[in-house]
Amino acid sequence: MGKGKLIIFSAPSGSGKSTIVNYLLGCGLNLAFSVSATSRAPRGSEVNGREYYFLSPDEFRKRIANDEFLEYEEVYKDNFYGTLKSEVERLRNDGKNVVFDIDVAGGVNLKNVFGNDALSVFIMPPSIEALRTRLIGRNTDSAETIEKRLAKAEFEISYAPKFDKVILNDNLEIAKAETLNAITEFLDK
Ligand code: 5GP
Repeated sequence: MGKGKLIIFSAPSGSGKSTIVNYLLGCGLNLAFSVSATSRAPRGSEVNGREYYFLSPDEFRKRIANDEFLEYEEVYKDNFYGTLKSEVERLRNDGKNVVFDIDVAGGVNLKNVFGNDALSVFIMPPSIEALRTRLIGRNTDSAETIEKRLAKAEFEISYAPKFDKVILNDNLEIAKAETLNAITEFLDK
């Protein structure tokens, strides 16, 4: 059995990335989601081992020192997120194609690690204004958090040219179809 391929998704918060990733996971493409580790606390209905492996800041640092991460970033101040080598190995050895939902810097780093075995996809929001409307409508973040995420979005958008594919999410159904096409083509190669 050949080793699985890797599909990396990055996007500013609120650009519809999670919706598109969840759609793809249900498309029967032998995809498995790479669960990242994070030092932030679980939110709402999040379950350890499903959305993230929730680690204490100390535990996270220990794993950095042990060289257990393929990549990690301090995505938000004091909140670390990283891809565990063990997670990716486990899924690939199972013959799965592995899907990542990680920040822009992590996405570029992983693409550099895996080269042609990986497809990196950037989900582009139609505009900062549209992003603001979506983040407000989602009703999960405070006004202050939303402004922070929007400021960060401008910086994140500057990474788009470093990705293999940029998918504009102006219309969700079209964005889903375009992403599915790109991935099917990549997996058939
Ligand atoms: P949230 O706290 O909203 O779940 O995620 C915050 C950000 O961290 C998202 O942009 C997500 O893509 C990113 N992220 C999640 N896991 C990883 C990871 O393993 N590595 C990196 N670099 N970013 C990650």
